[in-house]
Amino acid sequence: MIPRTDSTWQTQSWQEQLKNLVCDPAELFSRLNLSPDNLAAVREACGDFPLRVSHSYLERIQPNNPDDPLLLQILPGAAELQSAPGYTRDPLLERDKNLNPGLIHKYRGRVLLLVSSACPVHCRYCFRRHFPYDDNRNSRLQWQQALHTIRSDPSISEVIYSGGDPLTASDRQLAWLTEQIAAIDHVKRLRIHTRFPVLIPARINRECLLWLSQSRLRVTMVLHVNHPAELDRHVADSLQRLQQSGITLLNQSVLLRGINDSVDTLTALSEQLFDHGVLPYYLHLLDKVAGAAHFDLPESTALSLYRALQSRLPGYLLPRLVREESGKTAKTLVTL
Ligand code: SF4
Repeated sequence: MIPRTDSTWQTQSWQEQLKNLVCDPAELFSRLNLSPDNLAAVREACGDFPLRVSHSYLERIQPNNPDDPLLLQILPGAAELQSAPGYTRDPLLERDKNLNPGLIHKYRGRVLLLVSSACPVHCRYCFRRHFPYDDNRNSRLQWQQALHTIRSDPSISEVIYSGGDPLTASDRQLAWLTEQIAAIDHVKRLRIHTRFPVLIPARINRECLLWLSQSRLRVTMVLHVNHPAELDRHVADSLQRLQQSGITLLNQSVLLRGINDSVDTLTALSEQLFDHGVLPYYLHLLDKVAGAAHFDLPESTALSLYRALQSRLPGYLLPRLVREESGKTAKTLVTL
């Protein structure tokens, strides 16, 4: 019998926590005391994007509540198997921009490095849930090709670590890569897109803070928090460690039906992020990825929510409502 509450993760290193992710739907159901009626459908929906969540995050999910907004972000479901017109495996046509292994060049002045293919969670709405990561796993030698591309283009002033979740890579690898990038004069900024401070807050440890704070590059970390209940005291501690190391903290959320499509939730999210030193940056409309149509909202609903949000928050706490469209030179602002 699996105990409902298991806090052993609190004494584990981030690597141990990553190794011990909950990947078995039966374990999840038992932990959260969910009715097993739905278990077969959940198993079927796992497919090539199985259940994956950390124990730390699981502790923030309410037991006995199949509609918990954190649970809905990570629980595979039958709706994922329904095909919907306009929802595709590569909604942003990233494969066309993936010219070197491990590198995507979408926007002028910035390149994105796919530092790792793995994540500490599988978010069910992820636009890269079908991405061909197997073609983008780089050795140090192969990273030289991506570095050469950056070196050869003086317009590139910012490098973005993405994935998967880039902080799945070891600090030794990340320190090496960051050093190589910092040696390229025209690169000024490093941006890291990660959910680790929220999924496994212990990832923000001394070794991580060392390479982050010692680089000459100006470092920004972009978190991905969709609901205020994702922020607990462990997350707050990890954010404080980042702030104390001089890292700029931003957040981007995805507007998700049944999860954060309420003015109260989005207001609380912005306010609580700011309490933890994080500025709300983007509120994304869902990327139309196959398997995630049930999370989408009509644009008119998104706009009326946004209008209400605007009347509740000061301008600096209002994230920009955006949509990503392949082929555009920047994100598209969705305006009132
Ligand atoms: S952490 Fe990011 S890349 Fe990983 S599954 Fe979630 S949204 Fe996708």
